[in-house]
Amino acid sequence: MAEQTRAKLCKYIEDNQSKFVDTLREAVEIPSVSCWADTRKDCVRMVDWTEGKLKALGFETEIRQQANHEVEGKTMQLPPILLATLGKDPSKKTLLIYGHLDVQPAKTSDGWDYEPFKLTEDKGNLYGRGSTDDKGPVLGWVHAVEAFQKSGVDIPVNIKAVFECMEECGSEGLEELLISLKDTFLSDIDAVTISDNYWLGTQTPCLTYGLRGLSYFMVEVECGTKDLHSGVFGGAVHEALPDLIWLLNQLVDVKGTILIPGILDDVLKLTDAESKLYDEIDFDLGEFKKDCGIRGLTSPTCKKTTLMSRWRNPALSVHGIEGAFSDPGAKTVIPRKVIGKFSIRLVPNQHPDKIGKIVKEYLEKKWAERGSPNKLIVSMGHGGKPWVADHAHPNYVAAATATEQVYGVKPILTREGGSIPITITFQEVTGKNVMLLPMGQSDDGAHSQNEKISKRNYIEGTKLFVSYLLELGAQLK
Ligand SMILES: [Zn+2]
Repeated sequence: MAEQTRAKLCKYIEDNQSKFVDTLREAVEIPSVSCWADTRKDCVRMVDWTEGKLKALGFETEIRQQANHEVEGKTMQLPPILLATLGKDPSKKTLLIYGHLDVQPAKTSDGWDYEPFKLTEDKGNLYGRGSTDDKGPVLGWVHAVEAFQKSGVDIPVNIKAVFECMEECGSEGLEELLISLKDTFLSDIDAVTISDNYWLGTQTPCLTYGLRGLSYFMVEVECGTKDLHSGVFGGAVHEALPDLIWLLNQLVDVKGTILIPGILDDVLKLTDAESKLYDEIDFDLGEFKKDCGIRGLTSPTCKKTTLMSRWRNPALSVHGIEGAFSDPGAKTVIPRKVIGKFSIRLVPNQHPDKIGKIVKEYLEKKWAERGSPNKLIVSMGHGGKPWVADHAHPNYVAAATATEQVYGVKPILTREGGSIPITITFQEVTGKNVMLLPMGQSDDGAHSQNEKISKRNYIEGTKLFVSYLLELGAQLK
């Protein structure tokens, strides 16, 4: 019976493929770039357009206006955040879906082979900005609900949605709103699903249960009040840049191992069960090396260590030096002040505040060893906590079962090395299980030129969403 119901929903999706592609076309044609001032009106239009789609399906919607902020030197109102509710049946559990309606900037002159804000179908792929990040997945949910309604099948869970239009610009305003909704809109949530990431490769579907956090650091060394000529002053003055380079060189060794004592103290120990998960992941080290175009890996022959280095271990990266001469040519300057920038990707249970303190103390101790007369200031910029969820939770079981039904294979359980800070906010505010359920694949080029989603992932992904909703109703009982 359940399989017949699922087949009926999947048939509706199959029969309406070209209509669903047309809806994505409409969405891609709204250039909702959140970090440009000129397209702010399109962000507002995109929220309104989505609200219209949800209302047509019977969602109760609410537009939450946001405060002003600065964009490209202009004071503007942040795009509104859309809240939506479908179903208030007290006998059903409630799923919360999050997605974003804004996109990264894109211009044909950046090197696109297609018009970024027109949807182009080519060899099974749907090209266009936002096709995979994140308009395709958001529409996947909309179409999943439509499939239930048009097929006369009851959705076994109540659905709530939060759709924002500032994700590509730091989700400004969202965290505050979510916290303020803790005892109202978000008080009755039973599980959370976010479709805003990608498969590990191009073949096997994934469920993602962890993300790294981040601590960003600035190390400022100042040696004087003005830049100096090296011919006139070199040799006689104590320079800032060698001090900074020496300090930055105390952070990691040649293998990328972090040299700061105490930094690993709070990292969760690897259990046998977790270790086994990594053995099961199909991941081609050679392909990965080719993809990232890098000469050397820190662990050249071990797939498992490489994955753990990307997902479950902290990593320190040095990003740049502000104030150092970096133009082409040879300029004989002694910079008066230089600022080194590095960050550490954090993993459970590291906390940005504690890591900040450890790093600062370490650099100040090293500075004392250096014995420089210059001035040092170490400061921590933005930070975000790492996130990990229980992947044995019914929310994950429902998604895993649905994946097998649609794709015929077990999903890979993945973590990601990057940070989506709002994920942990959803977990903290609702107190419930959060899952990342990706629709697109690793080569979709989110944020890049020629962003696409394959038509297969768009349509099968919609089938995955209906199958997941069916299973979730059974699993969450
Ligand atoms: Zn995204």
